[in-house]
Amino acid sequence: MSTQQLPVVVIGAGPVGLAAATHLVERGIEPLVLEAGSRAGSAVREWSHVRLFSTWGEVVDPAAEKLLAPTGWTRPDPAAYPSGGEWAEQYLQPLADALGDKVRTGATVTGVSRAGRDRIVDADREQQPFVVHVEYADGREERVLARAVIDASGTWTTPSPAGGSGLPALGEKTAADRITYRVPDVKDPAVRARYAGRRTAVIGSGASAFTALAYLAELAESEDGTGTRAVWILRRGISGSTFGGGTADQLPARGALGLAAKAAVDNGHADAVTGFRTEAFERDGHGRLVLVGEDGRRLDPVDEVIVLTGLRPDLSFLDELRLGLDERLQAPVALAPLIDPNQHSCGTVYPHGHRELSHPEQGLYLVGMKSYGRAPTFLAMTGYEQVRSVTAAIAGDLDSADRVELTLPETGVCGGAGLFDTADTQPTDGGGCCAAPEPQLVQLLTPAAEGTAAEEAPAGGCCGS
Ligand SMILES: Cc1cc2nc3c(=O)[nH]c(=O)nc-3n(C[C@H](O)[C@H](O)[C@H](O)COP(=O)(O)OP(=O)(O)OC[C@H]3O[C@@H](n4cnc5c(N)ncnc54)[C@H](O)[C@@H]3O)c2cc1C
Repeated sequence: MSTQQLPVVVIGAGPVGLAAATHLVERGIEPLVLEAGSRAGSAVREWSHVRLFSTWGEVVDPAAEKLLAPTGWTRPDPAAYPSGGEWAEQYLQPLADALGDKVRTGATVTGVSRAGRDRIVDADREQQPFVVHVEYADGREERVLARAVIDASGTWTTPSPAGGSGLPALGEKTAADRITYRVPDVKDPAVRARYAGRRTAVIGSGASAFTALAYLAELAESEDGTGTRAVWILRRGISGSTFGGGTADQLPARGALGLAAKAAVDNGHADAVTGFRTEAFERDGHGRLVLVGEDGRRLDPVDEVIVLTGLRPDLSFLDELRLGLDERLQAPVALAPLIDPNQHSCGTVYPHGHRELSHPEQGLYLVGMKSYGRAPTFLAMTGYEQVRSVTAAIAGDLDSADRVELTLPETGVCGGAGLFDTADTQPTDGGGCCAAPEPQLVQLLTPAAEGTAAEEAPAGGCCGS
C-alpha cells in the first residue's frame, strides 16, 4: 500500500479534531480519529457546567454543519450561548456519530514516529509513513500507519501548577487534597459543600479565574452569612486591563466575565492580593493551607485553592518527531509571535493556516488549542480555519490551503506586554494599538503574493505581528 492510501490520523475528538476529520472526508481522504476519552468531546465534557463566551454561531464548523445536515441534525440558535455540556451533546456527539467508525474512543496515542526512523535518521525520512502507537482502554496496543498526523489533542490534561516560577510550589503536591486545577461546578451539591462557608484562594488572571471568582461570589450571595469568601491571587498588579476588555470586547460574553470578576471584588466577595508569586504551600494547625510568596509574604490560611494559571501542551508523545516550536510558548515558530503575550495582550491573531502550522517534520500539524502552546487566547473558530487550511494542504490543494479567510474578534485589551508584572510592561487599558473599530474580513495570501493583502490584514502593529 502506498503512503498516500493510508489514513490521516487525527489525535483527539474535540471540536477541532472532529472538524479536521470532517474536512478530510469532504476531500475524499480517510481520517482516523483517535480519542483517549470514552466519548467525543471528553475534555469539553469536563467543563460542561461552564458557559461559553462564544455563541453557537461561532463554535460550529461550517463543513461539519454540511456533514450533519442530511442526518436530521437541528442547528441550535446561532445567537445563543451553549454550555460546555451542550456543545458536547448537541454538536460534538452528533458529529462524531456522523463520522461513525472513523472515530475510535478509548484510544490514547502514546507515541508518534516515522516508520523505521527515529528522530535522528535522515535517510528517506519523508517517504516513510508515520507510525502511531495507540493504547486502548481494554489494555490492547496497536501501531497505526498514517500518511499525515494532525495533533488536535488540546491542552486540557496538562494544567500549569501554582508555583510562580512555573514549577509546582513547594508542598503543592502534598496539598492536593485542598487544591483543584478546574473551575468548580458550585451548582453540584457535593462541590457546593466544599466551597460554601469556606475561604478559597483563586490563583490566576484569565477567563477561567474570572469565572471561578464569579461562581464563588454567587455562592456567597446565595449562602448569605455563611462566610463564603475568595482571595484572588494575582502575579501582577491590578490595572484597568486586569479585568479584560469589558464592554470593548467584541465577544460581549467574554468581556462580561471580567466584569463579573470585578463585581466580585467591588462587592466585597473577593480580596485581591497583587504581585504575589506563590513559592510554597504550608499547613496551619487545622490543616488549612498557608500560601507563602516568593517575597516571603504569608497569607491568612485558606480552606481551598483553585489554581487557574493556564494550560500547557503535552509534547511527550511527539518526542521522536522533529518539531519546530517556539522556546517560550511551545507553539509552532511561525505562529508564536502572533500570539505571544510577552509582545501583546490583546489576543488578536490574524487568521493563519498550514504554513504557520508546519514543522520540520513534514506532514505533521499541531492544531487547535494545542497549537497555541501556552498562549491563552485560542478560539474554536481559529481552529476550524486552521484545519480547513491544513487538510487542503494535505490534499495537495495549495490554492485553497493558502487562501485564509476569517473574521476574528478583538478582545478590547491591547498594547504592551500581557504577561509580566512590572509597571513598565503593564498593558495599557482597552483601546490600544490594535483595537479595530469594526470587525474586519481579512484575506491573507501566500508569501508568494507578498505585499498585497497581508498589508491590509490587522497584522501590523502590536497585535498581529
Ligand atoms: C473552560 C473553557 C471555556 C472555553 N470557552 C471558549 C469559548 O467560549 N469560545 C471559544 O472559541 N473557545 C473557548 N475555549 C477554548 C477552546 O475553543 C476549547 O478549549 C476547545 O475545546 C479546544 O478544542 P480542541 O479540539 O483544540 O481541544 P480539546 O477540546 O481539548 O480536545 C482535545 C481532545 O483530545 C483528547 N486527547 C488528549 N490527549 C490525547 C491522546 N494522547 N490521545 C488521544 N486523545 C487525546 C482529549 O480527550 C480531548 O477530547 C474554552 C476553553 C475552556 C477550557
